[in-house]
Amino acid sequence: MNTYKHMQSSSELASVLARRLTVLGSTGSVGAATLDVVRFARSHYGQEVFPLEAITAYRNADRLVRDARELGPKAVVIGDPAFYSEVKSSLARSGIEVLVGSDGLLEAAGRPADMVMSAIVGAAGLAPTLAALERGAMVALANKECVVAAGAIFRRAAEESRGVLIPVDSEHNAAFQLLDFEQSHAIEKVTLTASGGPFRTWSLERMASATPEQAVAHPNWSMGAKISVDSATLMNKGLELIEAQVLFGLPPEKLDVVIHAQSLVHCLVAYADGSVLAHLSAPDMKTPIAHALAWPQRMVSPARRLDFTEFSQFTFEKPDLQRFPSLQLARACLQAGGAAPTILNAANEVAVEQFLGRRIGFLGIARAVERTLSALSREVNSEAPATLDDVLALDGTARAKAREECELAAA
Ligand code: NDP
Repeated sequence: MNTYKHMQSSSELASVLARRLTVLGSTGSVGAATLDVVRFARSHYGQEVFPLEAITAYRNADRLVRDARELGPKAVVIGDPAFYSEVKSSLARSGIEVLVGSDGLLEAAGRPADMVMSAIVGAAGLAPTLAALERGAMVALANKECVVAAGAIFRRAAEESRGVLIPVDSEHNAAFQLLDFEQSHAIEKVTLTASGGPFRTWSLERMASATPEQAVAHPNWSMGAKISVDSATLMNKGLELIEAQVLFGLPPEKLDVVIHAQSLVHCLVAYADGSVLAHLSAPDMKTPIAHALAWPQRMVSPARRLDFTEFSQFTFEKPDLQRFPSLQLARACLQAGGAAPTILNAANEVAVEQFLGRRIGFLGIARAVERTLSALSREVNSEAPATLDDVLALDGTARAKAREECELAAA
């Protein structure tokens, strides 16, 4: 018979949870939420639960210095060398080591933290995240672009090292909690939910003149600019389908997407006996972050809690692929495999950047990605890149092509 075990005392639990942590991208939306969970754990459990090994930023030197002074990591990394002397002089006599550039990021990922939160946006996070996994760290993975660009390499690294990938993306973290890996033969379908973004009900004509400000104004989640635009095009959900395939090894036909405007159900897993398990939580990244930081334990988190009396309805609908062609493009790349996901990711990063810089329109994003994919399908080897260097080379080729496509569209 199962018995309800007495809970461990707070201090016992804090010692079980305790692990040294590095946060790559600590100044971003996920990075800042991670540091909030770190602060909360310290005050809730009355001791340092996640001592910081290193934190990193790209250009936000002020925030990096402020967090470093408050939380005392052993090292910080500033990605852009232009800010190095500012950070160095601000942290003089603090005893905190200051590293710089992509070498600094690699060094931070290689330092002896038990867990590395991968929260840099885009392919810039690829090399340090892989380095952390290869040295056997637990990697809390928010940066979906790196597993989309280099899926096979990440799978191999996870198999060959003692490293573990724990998904932080809310849908994948939910799936990780719902999937019974001992019964994988009985998994019929994993359905990721999508809010539909700010343009869920907009016509194509209206979307054609959508501004960056409108695209980043997500109805439910507060996130960085790039992922907010990806949510508006639904490319985010397409990248997530590929991420799910890499993380869970499921075939494309077992992966699906449904629009759920309330963002309360994050994933649904259907089993062969007809059961469907759902994961619910408030749309607050501190829930999956706390789950990943504490895994396989559970900790108290500062995340918002769900109040079921507040909701009058839960709705589910099919995505409209006419208005959101990016999802269709990503699905085709998921099916095609090989080089396609790397090209998709790179082209999308460029197109989103161009849209945010007001050089192309909102509908131009999917168009530039489609044209890049179609042009490169004739030019590049369709095999999946085998090494990190191959991924970076293909990523570079795809970015150059996507920039050309965006320039043509802007002309
Ligand atoms: P943000 O844009 O808010 O933050 C990105 C972080 O990466 C910042 O710390 C930024 O530093 C750093 N960074 C940016 N470019 C570089 C670079 N070239 N080299 C080194 N560091 C760099 O992004 P989010 O927090 O929104 O997203 C981070 C990742 O997590 C993305 O992959 C996203 O898809 C994923 N994700 C995000 C969610 C969210 O709720 N935000 C939810 C699920 C997944 P600086 O601040 O100095 O520019």
